Amino acid sequence: MTKKKTAKIIDGKAVAAKVKEEIKAQVADMIDKHFDTPHLAAVIVGENPASQTYVASKEKAAQRVGMTSSVYRLPQDITEDELLKTIEFLNNDREVDGFIVQLPLPPQIDVDKVIGAIDPAKDVDGFHPVNVGKMVLGEPGYVSATPAGIMELLKRYHIKTEGKHCVVLGRSNIVGTPVSILMSRKANPGNATVTVCHSKTENIEEYTRAADILICAIGRPRFIKADMVKQGAVVIDVGIHRIPADNEKGYRLAGDVDFDEVAKIAAYITPVPGGVGPMTIAMLLKNTLSAAKKEFYR
Ligand code: NAP
Repeated sequence: MTKKKTAKIIDGKAVAAKVKEEIKAQVADMIDKHFDTPHLAAVIVGENPASQTYVASKEKAAQRVGMTSSVYRLPQDITEDELLKTIEFLNNDREVDGFIVQLPLPPQIDVDKVIGAIDPAKDVDGFHPVNVGKMVLGEPGYVSATPAGIMELLKRYHIKTEGKHCVVLGRSNIVGTPVSILMSRKANPGNATVTVCHSKTENIEEYTRAADILICAIGRPRFIKADMVKQGAVVIDVGIHRIPADNEKGYRLAGDVDFDEVAKIAAYITPVPGGVGPMTIAMLLKNTLSAAKKEFYR
Protein backbone atom coordinates (compact mmCIF):
# COMPACT_ATOMS: atom_id res chain seq x y z
CA MET A 1 0.00 0.00 0.00
CA THR A 2 1.43 3.44 -0.91
CA LYS A 3 1.22 6.20 1.66
CA LYS A 4 -0.86 9.18 0.54
CA LYS A 5 1.37 12.26 0.14
CA THR A 6 0.35 15.52 1.75
CA ALA A 7 2.01 18.91 1.74
CA LYS A 8 4.58 19.90 4.32
CA ILE A 9 3.05 22.50 6.63
CA ILE A 10 4.87 25.81 6.86
CA ASP A 11 4.45 26.45 10.57
CA GLY A 12 4.23 30.24 10.87
CA LYS A 13 3.41 30.04 14.55
CA ALA A 14 6.67 28.22 15.31
CA VAL A 15 8.77 30.48 13.07
CA ALA A 16 7.16 33.59 14.59
CA ALA A 17 7.96 32.26 18.08
CA LYS A 18 11.60 31.77 17.03
CA VAL A 19 11.82 35.27 15.51
CA LYS A 20 10.33 36.76 18.70
CA GLU A 21 12.81 34.82 20.84
CA GLU A 22 15.66 36.29 18.80
CA ILE A 23 14.20 39.78 19.17
CA LYS A 24 13.75 39.27 22.92
CA ALA A 25 17.43 38.35 23.28
CA GLN A 26 18.47 41.45 21.35
CA VAL A 27 16.19 43.70 23.43
CA ALA A 28 17.66 42.23 26.64
CA ASP A 29 21.15 42.86 25.27
CA MET A 30 20.28 46.51 24.51
CA ILE A 31 18.93 46.97 28.03
CA ASP A 32 22.05 45.32 29.52
CA LYS A 33 24.17 47.78 27.59
CA HIS A 34 22.09 50.67 29.00
CA PHE A 35 20.41 51.65 25.75
CA ASP A 36 16.80 52.86 26.01
CA THR A 37 14.18 50.11 25.94
CA PRO A 38 12.64 49.95 22.43
CA HIS A 39 9.17 51.50 22.43
CA LEU A 40 6.32 50.75 20.01
CA ALA A 41 3.29 53.05 19.96
CA ALA A 42 -0.03 52.45 18.21
CA VAL A 43 -2.74 54.88 17.25
CA ILE A 44 -6.27 53.54 17.04
CA VAL A 45 -9.27 55.54 15.89
CA GLY A 46 -12.79 54.42 16.85
CA GLU A 47 -14.08 51.16 18.25
CA ASN A 48 -13.68 48.72 15.33
CA PRO A 49 -13.50 45.35 17.20
CA ALA A 50 -11.01 43.77 14.75
CA SER A 51 -8.71 46.81 15.05
CA GLN A 52 -9.00 46.67 18.87
CA THR A 53 -7.97 43.01 18.81
CA TYR A 54 -5.04 43.64 16.43
CA VAL A 55 -3.73 46.56 18.50
CA ALA A 56 -4.10 44.62 21.77
CA SER A 57 -2.12 41.70 20.37
CA LYS A 58 0.61 44.00 19.00
CA GLU A 59 0.90 45.69 22.41
CA LYS A 60 1.05 42.34 24.21
CA ALA A 61 3.61 40.96 21.75
CA ALA A 62 5.84 44.04 22.19
CA GLN A 63 5.77 43.64 25.96
CA ARG A 64 6.52 39.91 25.73
CA VAL A 65 9.79 40.61 23.92
CA GLY A 66 10.74 43.18 26.57
CA MET A 67 9.77 46.33 24.67
CA THR A 68 7.57 49.03 26.11
CA SER A 69 4.43 50.10 24.31
CA SER A 70 1.68 52.68 24.36
CA VAL A 71 -1.70 53.03 22.67
CA TYR A 72 -3.31 56.33 21.66
CA ARG A 73 -7.07 55.82 21.51
CA LEU A 74 -8.87 58.49 19.52
CA PRO A 75 -12.61 58.92 18.93
CA GLN A 76 -14.31 57.83 15.69
CA ASP A 77 -15.32 61.43 14.91
CA ILE A 78 -11.83 62.89 15.28
CA THR A 79 -10.89 65.44 12.62
CA GLU A 80 -8.00 64.88 10.26
CA ASP A 81 -6.15 67.85 11.77
CA GLU A 82 -6.41 66.41 15.28
CA LEU A 83 -5.13 63.03 14.09
CA LEU A 84 -2.25 64.75 12.27
CA LYS A 85 -1.36 66.53 15.52
CA THR A 86 -1.08 63.15 17.28
CA ILE A 87 1.18 61.91 14.46
CA GLU A 88 3.35 65.01 14.83
CA PHE A 89 3.53 64.46 18.59
CA LEU A 90 4.70 60.85 18.09
CA ASN A 91 7.18 61.90 15.38
CA ASN A 92 8.79 64.23 17.94
CA ASP A 93 8.53 62.04 21.03
CA ARG A 94 12.07 60.80 21.64
CA GLU A 95 10.80 57.88 23.72
CA VAL A 96 8.88 56.43 20.78
CA ASP A 97 11.09 54.45 18.39
CA GLY A 98 8.33 53.40 16.02
CA PHE A 99 4.58 53.68 15.72
CA ILE A 100 1.70 52.42 13.66
CA VAL A 101 -1.67 53.89 12.78
CA GLN A 102 -4.11 51.01 12.78
CA LEU A 103 -6.19 50.86 9.58
CA PRO A 104 -8.94 51.28 8.51
CA LEU A 105 -9.53 54.94 9.39
CA PRO A 106 -12.95 56.61 9.37
CA PRO A 107 -14.14 58.18 6.08
CA GLN A 108 -13.46 61.82 7.09
CA ILE A 109 -9.72 61.03 7.22
CA ASP A 110 -7.45 60.90 4.16
CA VAL A 111 -5.40 57.75 4.83
CA ASP A 112 -2.61 58.68 2.40
CA LYS A 113 -2.21 62.05 4.10
CA VAL A 114 -1.93 60.39 7.51
CA ILE A 115 0.59 57.77 6.34
CA GLY A 116 2.53 60.48 4.53
CA ALA A 117 2.74 62.49 7.78
CA ILE A 118 4.53 59.70 9.68
CA ASP A 119 8.28 60.23 10.02
CA PRO A 120 9.73 57.50 7.71
CA ALA A 121 12.29 56.73 10.43
CA LYS A 122 9.43 55.72 12.78
CA ASP A 123 7.18 54.09 10.13
CA VAL A 124 7.53 50.51 11.37
CA ASP A 125 4.52 49.41 9.28
CA GLY A 126 6.58 50.32 6.19
CA PHE A 127 3.63 52.06 4.53
CA HIS A 128 5.21 55.52 4.02
CA PRO A 129 6.09 56.24 0.35
CA VAL A 130 9.76 56.69 1.33
CA ASN A 131 9.92 53.16 2.78
CA VAL A 132 7.92 51.70 -0.12
CA GLY A 133 10.37 53.44 -2.50
CA LYS A 134 13.36 52.04 -0.60
CA MET A 135 11.89 48.54 -0.87
CA VAL A 136 11.37 48.97 -4.63
CA LEU A 137 14.97 50.16 -5.04
CA GLY A 138 16.33 47.42 -2.77
CA GLU A 139 17.63 49.94 -0.23
CA PRO A 140 17.55 49.18 3.50
CA GLY A 141 14.30 50.38 5.10
CA TYR A 142 11.15 49.10 6.74
CA VAL A 143 9.36 46.46 4.67
CA SER A 144 5.71 46.09 5.58
CA ALA A 145 5.16 43.27 7.99
CA THR A 146 3.01 40.78 6.06
CA PRO A 147 5.19 40.66 2.91
CA ALA A 148 8.29 40.60 5.12
CA GLY A 149 6.76 37.68 7.05
CA ILE A 150 6.14 35.73 3.84
CA MET A 151 9.77 36.24 2.75
CA GLU A 152 10.99 35.15 6.20
CA LEU A 153 8.94 31.94 6.01
CA LEU A 154 10.37 31.11 2.56
CA LYS A 155 13.87 31.81 3.87
CA ARG A 156 13.58 29.75 7.05
CA TYR A 157 12.08 26.80 5.18
CA HIS A 158 14.91 27.01 2.58
CA ILE A 159 12.39 27.14 -0.24
CA LYS A 160 14.13 27.75 -3.55
CA THR A 161 12.64 30.81 -5.22
CA GLU A 162 15.39 31.55 -7.75
CA GLY A 163 14.25 30.89 -11.30
CA LYS A 164 10.81 29.79 -10.11
CA HIS A 165 7.54 31.10 -11.44
CA CYS A 166 5.79 32.92 -8.63
CA VAL A 167 2.17 33.90 -9.12
CA VAL A 168 0.79 36.51 -6.72
CA LEU A 169 -2.98 36.84 -6.46
CA GLY A 170 -3.89 40.37 -5.35
CA ARG A 171 -2.20 43.73 -5.85
CA SER A 172 -3.00 45.65 -2.66
CA ASN A 173 -0.45 48.14 -1.37
CA ILE A 174 0.00 46.19 1.86
CA VAL A 175 0.38 42.62 0.55
CA GLY A 176 0.16 41.74 -3.16
CA THR A 177 2.21 44.56 -4.67
CA PRO A 178 5.08 44.55 -2.14
CA VAL A 179 5.41 40.76 -2.10
CA SER A 180 5.47 40.68 -5.92
CA ILE A 181 8.33 43.21 -5.87
CA LEU A 182 10.26 41.34 -3.16
CA MET A 183 9.93 38.04 -5.04
CA SER A 184 11.30 39.57 -8.23
CA ARG A 185 14.23 41.37 -6.58
CA LYS A 186 17.81 40.22 -7.10
CA ALA A 187 18.03 38.59 -3.67
CA ASN A 188 17.47 35.35 -1.83
CA PRO A 189 14.59 34.73 -1.38
CA GLY A 190 13.70 36.48 -4.62
CA ASN A 191 15.05 36.07 -8.16
CA ALA A 192 11.68 34.60 -9.14
CA THR A 193 9.77 35.33 -12.33
CA VAL A 194 6.61 36.97 -11.06
CA THR A 195 3.08 37.21 -12.43
CA VAL A 196 0.54 39.39 -10.60
CA CYS A 197 -3.16 38.56 -10.94
CA HIS A 198 -6.10 40.71 -9.81
CA SER A 199 -9.83 41.04 -10.20
CA LYS A 200 -9.53 41.94 -13.89
CA THR A 201 -7.34 38.93 -14.75
CA GLU A 202 -9.05 36.64 -17.26
CA ASN A 203 -8.82 32.85 -16.91
CA ILE A 204 -7.00 33.16 -13.58
CA GLU A 205 -6.68 29.37 -13.20
CA GLU A 206 -4.32 29.28 -16.22
CA TYR A 207 -1.90 31.40 -14.18
CA THR A 208 -2.42 29.68 -10.85
CA ARG A 209 -1.80 26.26 -12.45
CA ALA A 210 1.48 27.52 -13.89
CA ALA A 211 2.79 28.65 -10.49
CA ASP A 212 5.72 26.98 -8.74
CA ILE A 213 5.02 29.35 -5.85
CA LEU A 214 1.48 30.62 -5.40
CA ILE A 215 0.88 33.54 -3.03
CA CYS A 216 -2.82 34.15 -2.40
CA ALA A 217 -3.92 37.54 -1.06
CA ILE A 218 -7.31 38.24 -2.61
CA GLY A 219 -9.62 38.14 0.38
CA ARG A 220 -11.95 35.44 -1.04
CA PRO A 221 -12.56 32.49 1.33
CA ARG A 222 -11.36 29.14 -0.06
CA PHE A 223 -11.15 30.54 -3.58
CA ILE A 224 -8.19 28.35 -4.58
CA LYS A 225 -9.20 24.73 -5.19
CA ALA A 226 -6.97 21.73 -5.90
CA ASP A 227 -7.60 21.86 -9.67
CA MET A 228 -6.15 25.40 -9.74
CA VAL A 229 -2.79 24.35 -8.30
CA LYS A 230 0.17 22.55 -9.87
CA GLN A 231 1.29 19.30 -8.25
CA GLY A 232 4.24 20.06 -5.95
CA ALA A 233 3.67 23.83 -5.77
CA VAL A 234 4.46 25.96 -2.73
CA VAL A 235 1.23 27.64 -1.57
CA ILE A 236 1.27 30.69 0.70
CA ASP A 237 -2.17 31.68 1.97
CA VAL A 238 -2.47 35.25 3.25
CA GLY A 239 -6.28 35.41 3.49
CA ILE A 240 -8.07 35.43 6.84
CA HIS A 241 -11.83 34.88 6.97
CA ARG A 242 -14.38 33.93 9.57
CA ILE A 243 -16.42 31.00 8.25
CA PRO A 244 -19.65 30.12 10.11
CA ALA A 245 -19.11 26.95 12.13
CA ASP A 246 -21.06 24.77 14.51
CA ASN A 247 -18.84 25.47 17.53
CA GLU A 248 -18.86 27.67 20.62
CA LYS A 249 -17.60 30.74 18.78
CA GLY A 250 -19.96 30.22 15.85
CA TYR A 251 -17.11 30.56 13.37
CA ARG A 252 -13.74 29.21 12.39
CA LEU A 253 -10.90 30.78 10.45
CA ALA A 254 -10.17 29.97 6.83
CA GLY A 255 -7.88 31.39 4.18
CA ASP A 256 -8.08 32.18 0.47
CA VAL A 257 -7.09 28.56 -0.18
CA ASP A 258 -9.20 25.45 0.30
CA PHE A 259 -6.61 23.95 2.63
CA ASP A 260 -7.98 20.39 2.88
CA GLU A 261 -8.06 19.97 -0.91
CA VAL A 262 -4.88 21.83 -1.81
CA ALA A 263 -2.75 20.22 0.93
CA LYS A 264 -3.15 16.92 -0.95
CA ILE A 265 -1.24 18.16 -3.99
CA ALA A 266 1.03 21.01 -2.86
CA ALA A 267 4.61 20.40 -1.68
CA TYR A 268 4.36 23.10 1.00
CA ILE A 269 1.40 25.03 2.35
CA THR A 270 0.73 27.64 5.05
CA PRO A 271 -2.30 26.89 7.25
CA VAL A 272 -4.88 29.45 8.40
CA PRO A 273 -4.63 30.13 11.26
CA GLY A 274 -0.96 29.55 12.10
CA GLY A 275 0.72 30.45 8.80
CA VAL A 276 1.32 33.99 7.59
CA GLY A 277 -0.78 35.63 10.34
CA PRO A 278 1.61 35.12 13.31
CA MET A 279 4.54 36.30 11.17
CA THR A 280 2.99 39.74 10.68
CA ILE A 281 3.33 40.73 14.34
CA ALA A 282 6.80 39.18 14.60
CA MET A 283 8.02 41.28 11.65
CA LEU A 284 6.46 44.43 13.11
CA LEU A 285 8.54 43.83 16.25
CA LYS A 286 11.61 43.24 14.08
CA ASN A 287 11.01 46.62 12.42
CA THR A 288 10.61 48.23 15.86
CA LEU A 289 13.93 46.75 16.97
CA SER A 290 15.56 48.12 13.79
CA ALA A 291 14.02 51.52 14.60
CA ALA A 292 15.43 51.45 18.15
CA LYS A 293 18.85 50.50 16.76
CA LYS A 294 18.58 53.24 14.12
CA GLU A 295 19.51 50.67 11.49
CA PHE A 296 18.02 52.50 8.53
CA TYR A 297 17.83 56.16 9.60
CA ARG A 298 20.16 58.19 11.83
P1 NAP B 1 -7.51 43.91 -0.60
O1 NAP B 1 -6.92 45.26 -0.35
O2 NAP B 1 -8.98 43.72 -0.57
O3 NAP B 1 -6.97 43.43 -2.04
C1 NAP B 1 -7.44 42.27 -2.63
C2 NAP B 1 -6.77 42.08 -3.97
O4 NAP B 1 -7.27 40.88 -4.56
C3 NAP B 1 -7.06 43.21 -4.97
O5 NAP B 1 -5.89 43.48 -5.70
C4 NAP B 1 -8.15 42.61 -5.87
O6 NAP B 1 -8.09 43.05 -7.21
C5 NAP B 1 -7.81 41.13 -5.84
N1 NAP B 1 -8.98 40.28 -6.04
C6 NAP B 1 -10.16 40.34 -5.37
N2 NAP B 1 -11.00 39.38 -5.83
C7 NAP B 1 -10.33 38.72 -6.80
C8 NAP B 1 -10.65 37.63 -7.65
N3 NAP B 1 -11.85 37.03 -7.60
N4 NAP B 1 -9.73 37.21 -8.54
C9 NAP B 1 -8.52 37.81 -8.59
N5 NAP B 1 -8.14 38.84 -7.81
C10 NAP B 1 -9.05 39.30 -6.92
O7 NAP B 1 -6.92 42.83 0.38
P2 NAP B 1 -5.53 42.74 1.20
O8 NAP B 1 -5.51 43.79 2.24
O9 NAP B 1 -4.38 42.59 0.27
O10 NAP B 1 -5.78 41.35 1.95
C11 NAP B 1 -6.01 40.14 1.27
C12 NAP B 1 -6.37 39.05 2.27
O11 NAP B 1 -5.29 38.88 3.16
C13 NAP B 1 -7.58 39.37 3.16
O12 NAP B 1 -8.26 38.17 3.46
C14 NAP B 1 -6.96 39.93 4.43
O13 NAP B 1 -7.76 39.73 5.57
C15 NAP B 1 -5.71 39.10 4.50
N6 NAP B 1 -4.59 39.75 5.22
C16 NAP B 1 -3.92 38.99 6.10
C17 NAP B 1 -2.83 39.51 6.77
C18 NAP B 1 -2.08 38.64 7.72
O14 NAP B 1 -1.42 39.14 8.61
N7 NAP B 1 -2.12 37.32 7.55
C19 NAP B 1 -2.43 40.82 6.55
C20 NAP B 1 -3.11 41.58 5.60
C21 NAP B 1 -4.19 41.02 4.92
P3 NAP B 1 -8.31 44.60 -7.64
O15 NAP B 1 -7.02 45.29 -7.33
O16 NAP B 1 -8.57 44.52 -9.10
O17 NAP B 1 -9.46 45.10 -6.84
